Formats: sequence, C-alpha cells, structure tokens
Amino acid sequence: MAGLTASMEALLQALKKLPGVGPRTAERYVFYLLSQPTSISKELSDAILRVKQTIGFCKICFNLADGEICALCQNPHRDKSILCVVEDHRSIRAMEKTGGYKGVYHVLLGALSPLDGIGPKDLRIQELKGRVKAGGVREIILATDSDLEGETTALYLTREIKGLALDPPVRVTRLAFGIPMGSSIEYADQVTLNRALEGRRSL
Ligand SMILES: [Zn+2]
Repeated sequence: MAGLTASMEALLQALKKLPGVGPRTAERYVFYLLSQPTSISKELSDAILRVKQTIGFCKICFNLADGEICALCQNPHRDKSILCVVEDHRSIRAMEKTGGYKGVYHVLLGALSPLDGIGPKDLRIQELKGRVKAGGVREIILATDSDLEGETTALYLTREIKGLALDPPVRVTRLAFGIPMGSSIEYADQVTLNRALEGRRSL
C-alpha cells in the first residue's frame, strides 16, 4: 500500500491474513498500534505467541487445553458417561454457553468430506471408538453440524459405534429439531441448542 514503510507493510500483510480483516481494517490496526505505547504491541504479540506455544489438544477429548488434559475432562462434576461428539472446539463453546449439558466431549477436528479428501482417518474417530470400547460410556450424542458433511459424519459414526456391538449397548443420539439444515452448531442460539439437546433422538 502506498505511503507505508516496509515494516508497516509487513504488519499490514500479516494482519490481512486474519479472518474478517480486509485491507482497510488492517491499515487501521497498523496506524492504531503505531499511535499507542509500545506496551500495547508487546502485550498483543506476547499473547499471540503464548497461545500458540502453550495450547495443545487434550489427550482425551481433543478439546483445546493449556496442559495435557482440558479443563472439562478434569472437572469431577462432569458426567464422563455421556460423550458429545462435535466437529471442533467452537461447537464446545456453543454447547457450554447453553449451560444445559453436563457430560464431556469428543472433538473430531473436522467432518467427513469426500470431495475435500477428508476421510475417517483424518478425524479422531479411532480415538472415539477407543474411548467407547474402554467402557463407562452409556450415551454418545452426535452434535456434528447439520450440513452435508456433518450429517454424513453422524451417519458414519452411528454405523461404526453400533458395529462395535458393545454390551451393554451404547445409546447413540443426534441433536433434535431446531438446528436449521446446513447450519453450524456454532451459530445456533442458546435456546435452540438447548432444545435440540433436550429433544435429541436415538439413532
Ligand atoms: Zn478433554
């Protein structure tokens, strides 16, 4: 962009890579940061680095975690016999906002999408089956999105879990009505999501 020094241009290009940040917003951020004390930039850059260096995936559920095990899996008040299977951690945030769910999660880190070359091996499905086979799970709530990929994934998981022929059998449910077709769990409002959770149906 005209009138920017090389270092300003580099920052602008870096900011533009963030979702929702266009050239004009990026430029505003650059000038804002320049106008502020150095401490503001340092705080921002330190926080970004810290988040990348300390956060990893929970070894149990693949939620984001500061250590090896996420806060939800560590919480003794969460019901470990109910697993809510979601595509990503953003869905966990949405579910947690409802305040109505007391079980734990399993994050697939995506959804099946043959067109994009994403198959079962690319998701945390083996790990899910491992958790179920280890015992102690009585219900699996499939809370993948209601778009094509999410539905395909739910269908696949239902078959896989039933195929384990567990004794006693694990109840497999899917979030109920209210979630519009083709939409992401992340964007469902709390009331809708709570209703969908309460009205979940067996598969
Ligand atoms: Zn966890």
